[in-house]
Amino acid sequence: MIDEKRCTGCGACKFACPVGAIEMVADAGGFLYPTVDWGKCISCHLCDIVCEKANQPALSPAYKVFALKHKDETVRSKSTSGGAFHLIAETFLNKGGIVYGVAFDGDWRVVHVRIDRPEEIMRVQRSKYVQSDLGDTFAEVAEDLKNGRRVLFSGTACQCSGLRSFLEVRGTGTDGLFLCDLICHGVPSPKIWEEYVAFRKRKSDIKAIDFRNKDRSWRDFRMAITYPKKTGIYRQNEDYFMVLFFHNLILRESCYHCAYTKTDRVSDFTLGDFWGIEDYYPAFSDDKGVSVLQINSEKGYEELKNELDKTEHMEVTVDKVQSGQPNLVHPTKRNEKVDAFWRDYRDKGFKYVLKKYADRTVLGVLKRKYLFKFLYYTGIFKLLLKLKNK
Ligand SMILES: Cc1cc2nc3c(=O)[nH]c(=O)nc-3n(C[C@H](O)[C@H](O)[C@H](O)COP(=O)(O)OP(=O)(O)OC[C@H]3O[C@@H](n4cnc5c(N)ncnc54)[C@H](O)[C@@H]3O)c2cc1C
Repeated sequence: MIDEKRCTGCGACKFACPVGAIEMVADAGGFLYPTVDWGKCISCHLCDIVCEKANQPALSPAYKVFALKHKDETVRSKSTSGGAFHLIAETFLNKGGIVYGVAFDGDWRVVHVRIDRPEEIMRVQRSKYVQSDLGDTFAEVAEDLKNGRRVLFSGTACQCSGLRSFLEVRGTGTDGLFLCDLICHGVPSPKIWEEYVAFRKRKSDIKAIDFRNKDRSWRDFRMAITYPKKTGIYRQNEDYFMVLFFHNLILRESCYHCAYTKTDRVSDFTLGDFWGIEDYYPAFSDDKGVSVLQINSEKGYEELKNELDKTEHMEVTVDKVQSGQPNLVHPTKRNEKVDAFWRDYRDKGFKYVLKKYADRTVLGVLKRKYLFKFLYYTGIFKLLLKLKNK
């Protein structure tokens, strides 16, 4: 199998193993890695084959690329970007297909789930910026395909590639399979997420979590945590989890070596935020969210072409998308403090790393609260934003 640095944790090896010799075991960050029971292993090397295939995927160039906004404003307000995912998922479910996507479980863990009714789309809508636990999804997809069901699997590019590789090695036909991936900055640690949820929960139970509350603006990343009596909204530089995420301290190691940071893709559909839309097509931009919908296969386009009139959309060239997306050019750069972060977390715990790496100090809190207000009300913030976007 591939070396640990590049293992994405997709689990294709576990499902390909004919004797159940592989378990996925969490490391200190909660990231899953395969562990082999050598007593059971029969040296068939299917784990090596499936892993190699997953990590050297056949990539397709963009077939058609759109800037897209769902016309249903409720759908768009409940989507991270412009609601492209809802359009695709609804299309599949209305035709009797199955959709696999990422939801919260009852403990706010981020997990893949299977849905078969349009009313359930809301569970898998919206980005959850944590590596999802795939559970038995790959085996369930194989079973659905075997039973002649059409399946839409939505996940990161590495998960999509792992799934395709597993199905090919297993000999399951993939005609009924459609893959939908994301432009991806990298997936944060499930363990740090668990710690963060416990930290936010310390005073009251949590009723809802939204990583990207768009009430004010689609461009500002705002974490919204809803409690029984109030909702706490935390700006990107104020929310400890998002600070660690964007400082590239808590991503899976393989994200710093990601093989999918290209416009050629492993999936039928690729989704993202259309950053920079206001510069290219100002009339299309309204700060409520615009999706990138990159369709990478003719089969994918055939599936969606008659549904596109549920959206406002505009065909664009792929370079317009790429210019606003570093992760379509290169993997996220590893923060030089990553090793120190994990050492400190292991030795001194979550509160300590929040203080040290997310500036959770009295001065830090005051600085974030008042410095931002000062910049905002004097108009300096808008000016800086304009300069940054130029
Ligand atoms: C970890 C992560 C990093 C991302 N990085 C970028 C980026 O750098 N640039 C960019 O433009 N867009 C990025 N995105 C994608 C972006 O946040 C939106 O999900 C995307 O634009 C789709 O929005 P939408 O409005 O079409 O649909 P939404 O309804 O918001 O779509 C949600 C879709 O994302 C899937 N999803 C949600 N959470 C996860 C998860 N943890 N793992 C796998 N799949 C998940 C769901 O299954 C669903 O298909 C990232 C998403 C994730 C999860």
